[in-house]
Amino acid sequence: MTVPVFSHPEFDGHEEVAFGHDPESGLKSIIAIHNSARGPALGGCRMWPYESEEEALTDVLRLSRGMTYKAAMAGLDLGGGKSVIIADPKADKSPALFRAMGHFVDGFGGRYIVAEDVGIAVEDVEIMAGETRYVAGAGNGGAGDPSPATAYGVFMGLRAAVRKRLDRKSVAGLRVAVQGLGHVGRELAGLLSQQGAELIVADIHYQAVEAAVSELGARAVAPEAIYDAEADVFAPCALGAILNNDTIPRLTAKVVAGSANNQLAEGRHGDALKARGILYAPDYVINAGGLIYVSGDARKRNGAGFDQEAALVRVAGIQDTLTEIFARAEAEGIATSAAADRIAEERFKKPAAPAPRASAASAPSPSWVS
Ligand code: NAD
Repeated sequence: MTVPVFSHPEFDGHEEVAFGHDPESGLKSIIAIHNSARGPALGGCRMWPYESEEEALTDVLRLSRGMTYKAAMAGLDLGGGKSVIIADPKADKSPALFRAMGHFVDGFGGRYIVAEDVGIAVEDVEIMAGETRYVAGAGNGGAGDPSPATAYGVFMGLRAAVRKRLDRKSVAGLRVAVQGLGHVGRELAGLLSQQGAELIVADIHYQAVEAAVSELGARAVAPEAIYDAEADVFAPCALGAILNNDTIPRLTAKVVAGSANNQLAEGRHGDALKARGILYAPDYVINAGGLIYVSGDARKRNGAGFDQEAALVRVAGIQDTLTEIFARAEAEGIATSAAADRIAEERFKKPAAPAPRASAASAPSPSWVS
């Protein structure tokens, strides 16, 4: 079967899509750079046992485009890119695989900067860092795991959405349905619980659910039942495309605010949420905390020291960005997802042609890469 690239429905004018293969380590990877008008493309690497190459390509294209909007919306001088490794993170990890991935990243000479995503841990990025300096979110004095910052940003954004839609200053007493208890979902659940929210949780991993029940007093439901749970807020923190024709009519929540990337199965589902009176905090806005945080590696690498406090203040700014989006959506009578897209596009679509690709050897380093 032929897999289309330029005519792929998710292609959306990508600047570059590259396929990396290393037979010795078994690496099969795709790096996609959507837009670099604002700067080098920083985006995580996802390791997932995709059922087909087409599924992997679709995912990386969607994720990469999302990063362009995310960086622009967060006001960062970064473009959008992403990578995927087609393999099972529970069975296929090896130092050789991540060295090969680091080598693949290095070939871009800084136009693409890799970080963690689903299936990839800080240790994996550190192995890649042995092959390339174009990494963000590694340990050793760097920003480290971005997930807690992502969760903090989602928490602050969720509060802004609750203020707007439910006229509530705090989450105390609100029922929040959290889908996915991984790096971000578990941390978010902890923050919500500390602030007095009632948790309803689901995950496909039994142990993660059990821990949330015993440690946070959460109520567990089956993965498929989370959409039907009686809740004030739905917080999707697992995988994408979970807001669709099947699930939107089932939601009882008045607010959707979670970390998952590409939550809307299609753009029109933003309108479907609006039509149901559900306030949607656009995914790439509310989940930008990790990106904002690791972009703080810039300051550290330039010798000024990684300033965690300052990075978290910038992450908290997500609530103001969302408030601006909610106001624009209301003023223009459009879905919040459409309002976010308009603001982001105003920021990254500029008339100048993209810079020609420099060779790896001669490419200038992005100012913040040591
Ligand atoms: P993770 O892999 O640590 O956690 C995902 C969790 O979702 C896992 O516990 C998994 O078992 C669970 N899950 C998978 N399918 C499920 C289903 N059908 N129902 C319920 N649970 C299911 O990933 P993460 O780092 O926590 O990221 C979660 C989401 O947030 C992803 O979409 C990711 O792209 C996005 N995101 C993460 C970050 C970050 O900093 N980690 C930043 C931005 C966006």
